[in-house]
Amino acid sequence: MSLLAKEYYQLLGVSEDATQKEIKKAYRKKAKKYHPDSNSDEADEEKFKKINKAYDVLSDEEKREKYDRFGKAGVQGSASTGQQRAASHFQDIFEEIFGGGSRGRSRGQNLKINTEITLEEAYKGVEKTVKVSRNTMCDACDGTGAENGETRRCPSCNGQGRVREVEQSFFGRRQVVKECSKCRGRGKVPEKHCEACQGKGVKESSEKITFSVPQGIEDGQRLRLENKGHENREGRSGDLYVYISVMPHEELERRGSDLYTVKKIGVGDAALGCSIEVSHPEKEIEVDVPSGTQPGQVLRVSGKGMPERFGTGDLYIKVDVEIPEELSEEERKVFEGLRKKPESSKSFFETVKDFIN
Ligand SMILES: [Zn+2]
Ligand SMILES: [Zn+2]
Repeated sequence: MSLLAKEYYQLLGVSEDATQKEIKKAYRKKAKKYHPDSNSDEADEEKFKKINKAYDVLSDEEKREKYDRFGKAGVQGSASTGQQRAASHFQDIFEEIFGGGSRGRSRGQNLKINTEITLEEAYKGVEKTVKVSRNTMCDACDGTGAENGETRRCPSCNGQGRVREVEQSFFGRRQVVKECSKCRGRGKVPEKHCEACQGKGVKESSEKITFSVPQGIEDGQRLRLENKGHENREGRSGDLYVYISVMPHEELERRGSDLYTVKKIGVGDAALGCSIEVSHPEKEIEVDVPSGTQPGQVLRVSGKGMPERFGTGDLYIKVDVEIPEELSEEERKVFEGLRKKPESSKSFFETVKDFIN
């Protein structure tokens, strides 16, 4: 055999004594990979054309023999009949690969999952990895559902993919055209079911998927991960929707982009002013409570809420003033002192200060 002759075999990646089965299988794999319409990264029209040419010759024993003996020169000139023949058998294979016609454009089903994150994660943004159970095209049969990719014409629809049925309706009997249920509109059924996928063309697989949750995401929002849904037998994937739930925080409540919390302080602290530690998704922050703060008063810390598209919300702190339920002897004196203001030489604040120290 001449060196030239090897090219077609190399293009398909088969040995020179490959059987027709092997050639067909190899071609299907390559065609799918390089087809300009495929969603593979390697889609390459030039390469695809070469593969088609190689398959056209090698799939025809007569041409193959000439090619083996004389190289490309041996199979030139037969182009027109070759192309016609090719057109029909390529079509067969493309229907197998892409499902034929508009069906080939369909995608796998979308998948939905729920993911819980903490408020801290919502504040900072987070990268999450989840395990997803999704269908992927069966690689044993390239999604055809047929062992060795061998199919035959569907006997139910005679290869049409559609069947006529008579339907009884209110208006009487009428004929309707429906997708053939035996071959699901493909017009072909497997000669023998692929064992790996029981003829379904897809297999369930467990996959780890990593995605980033953007800063400031709200409870109930969803993320769309393109092409991470189920893959159909044509190898086209739907999308994965991730529904985010933000778990409730022990101390903080979110409303829009603002955060709310309640802080308890003592009477003395309210009267004299103090500094308090307030929980925050990033890290605790210190907030000054001014003297004379009233029960139920709300303090606002600007810019300490949740991040959003156009900035950051605020943090609101409602101050709860605790009035002691039981008093020690000493405390009782302090509060007695507060009761009779006029005679006392000490001011209101000094009396409270004495109590604290
Ligand atoms: Zn299979
Ligand atoms: Zn059918």
